[in-house]
Amino acid sequence: MAKKYDTIIIGAGPGGMTAATYASRANLSVLMLDRGIYGGQMNNTAEIENYPGFSSVMGADLAEKMYASATQFGAEYAFGTVENLERQADQTWLVTTDMDQYQANSVIVATGAAYKKLGVPGEDEYAGRGVSYCAVCDGAFFRNQHVYVVGGGDSAVEEAVYLAGMAEQVTLIHRHATLSAQQILQKRAFDAKNLDFIWNTEVQEILGDGQAVTALRLHDKENKRDYEVAAAGIFIYVGLLPVSDMVAGLDVRDERGWIVTDETMATKQPGLYALGDVRQKALRQITTAVGDAAIAGQNAYAYNEAFK
Ligand code: FAD
Repeated sequence: MAKKYDTIIIGAGPGGMTAATYASRANLSVLMLDRGIYGGQMNNTAEIENYPGFSSVMGADLAEKMYASATQFGAEYAFGTVENLERQADQTWLVTTDMDQYQANSVIVATGAAYKKLGVPGEDEYAGRGVSYCAVCDGAFFRNQHVYVVGGGDSAVEEAVYLAGMAEQVTLIHRHATLSAQQILQKRAFDAKNLDFIWNTEVQEILGDGQAVTALRLHDKENKRDYEVAAAGIFIYVGLLPVSDMVAGLDVRDERGWIVTDETMATKQPGLYALGDVRQKALRQITTAVGDAAIAGQNAYAYNEAFK
């Protein structure tokens, strides 16, 4: 028989771990399920400078601290990729992972978002061999080499500055003429001596020698010109996609896959909540994920009380 909890939280990023803190501190039995190590996208982030209480903290360190908070009141953590959620006749939820099944009165979806691919030839072929989506994970492989970053938002600019601290040269390629990143990040990028920019340009193809990336084929949109540049690596930060397949059959998503909730983080399905990056919202950050999570954890408690 499936082990039963008051609430199951899918995803142990900052949002999921904070919801676990609130729900378990309210005396609910709580299980966090994650397909990987707790921390979510924070594990792919070098320095975080906009989380209250820290002038600067490494993503992995903040993950450790949040996990300690999340488990101090008895919340459990288990590995597993959640594949399906189903509301049963007795009004509980059946949560099916690739390894097990669990039952809960309420479920909180905190599965976050994943990087978008460029969708160009060579991207899949050279993934992990010069193509990366994580500067913290792979930056050190490119010490004293020339790497390219694609994108113009916060993540692209922040990670380009981080890479400039170890690569010989970093070039940021953006398809527009201006960056959309926060001003403080833009200033750091413009101030970095070994960071330059290619504007109004798209990557058309990632080229290699069969072993690793060697060059990029670029399209200059302004001058309508295609050309190649030599490259040791390319870091891609061109946007996010919701990780919400497991609720595909529940009619709780918008047309782009983001989960729609009200301000209590409730979806239209009884006992089903969503929080953090996977939710339809304007600003996807750690602070907004943990804010959502406090509300979701508290409302999961209220729902469980009414359930009794
Ligand atoms: P996530 O952190 O995405 O966590 C979701 C978790 O769900 C993951 O652990 C995942 O493994 C798990 N999961 C997904 N699907 C399943 C499934 N089917 N079954 C089981 N588990 C599943 N924010 C800031 O505030 N400041 C910054 O400086 C900052 N820098 C960033 C830099 C980079 C490079 C990136 C990528 C992001 C950055 N962010 C920053 C954004 C921030 O990390 C996210 O907004 C935040 O992590 C969202 O938290 P979350 O809990 O909603 O989801």
